[in-house]
Amino acid sequence: MRLFVAVTPPSAALTELGRAAQQLHALPHADRLRWTDPATWHFTLVFLGEVGEELLPELDERLGRAARRHPPHEVRLAGGGRFGDRTLWAGAEGELETLRALARSAGAAARRSGVAVDESRPFHAHLTLARATGRARVNLRPFADALAGFTGTPWRVGRLELVRSHLPGSGQPGERPRYEGVRAWDLGH
Ligand code: ATP
Ligand code: MG
Repeated sequence: MRLFVAVTPPSAALTELGRAAQQLHALPHADRLRWTDPATWHFTLVFLGEVGEELLPELDERLGRAARRHPPHEVRLAGGGRFGDRTLWAGAEGELETLRALARSAGAAARRSGVAVDESRPFHAHLTLARATGRARVNLRPFADALAGFTGTPWRVGRLELVRSHLPGSGQPGERPRYEGVRAWDLGH
């Protein structure tokens, strides 16, 4: 199954970001981007990819231990950026060192469980808002710039989640994956 480890902001924080993101839809070429569904917004801490069922018990155990080793911490959604001209994202501010350490521990937990985690990309706290797909060439800079002034209300990262991604099978353009929570653990105190 296709899995990733994530942190989900509370709905109040997502509503604030939703309002800011709504204004981006009025920018030129917004319709050429594939926008993510606000109901699924999250921070990916570790992307696991395909994981065999047999690895789940140990993964479960180790991720739980990783979560307990880090304290709850405060962050807020803020600003935006892009990965090239492919991905537009909202950023975060606050106790990102703790979030980064949590991501590192979750990655190590997954590797020790036998998951082949891609270590080439360092963790970068971001919440994907839109993607340019296919042949669409859209300059994402104006979108990222429009988010520069956005700062959300601080919230507490208190839970680590293991999420399953069901990719759309129909091949319909624009169809989005469905996410399903598998497990969640409270951070340590
Ligand atoms: P789609 O692939 O259709 O755009 P998606 O990216 O939301 O949808 P997944 O590809 O299953 O769905 O990814 C789940 C989460 O993991 C997303 O937050 C995605 O950005 C992240 N992710 C996917 N692939 C990678 C990767 N190779 N490295 C890091 N993060 C990834
Ligand atoms: Mg993807």
